[in-house]
Amino acid sequence: MTEISRYANGDSMEYWKAAQEGRLIFQKCASCGEIQFPPRHHCASCWEADLGWTESSGLGEVESYTIVRRAPLPQLRDKVPYVVAAILVEEGPRMLTNLVGEDALNVAIGAKVKVVFQTDADDETLPQFQLA
Ligand SMILES: [Zn+2]
Repeated sequence: MTEISRYANGDSMEYWKAAQEGRLIFQKCASCGEIQFPPRHHCASCWEADLGWTESSGLGEVESYTIVRRAPLPQLRDKVPYVVAAILVEEGPRMLTNLVGEDALNVAIGAKVKVVFQTDADDETLPQFQLA
């Protein structure tokens, strides 16, 4: 069996498979309709375990952010300055992510963003966001 992602577990396997295909998906509760992230075994709203998946538009806006100017780890030295942002995705969930792209440092609260998929040095495909 091919390993999908070192981050994947039984609850998040579908999420990581979709990311490899360039799709952003969220769990949707069949009982109450809540859409949630990150993937869990139960609905965080009503505690039922009847969860399916729904495709995200990949659109959202910046709720908050910080610009990291001093690398917290040696392997991040060539990445600074970079942006870590809390994104409110159109479907409701909040994602903590890197904001990537040439103009990422122009970030502002409320800025419109869209998902992009980047493959890191360990060959992991990660959903990230960039200014729309
Ligand atoms: Zn629910």
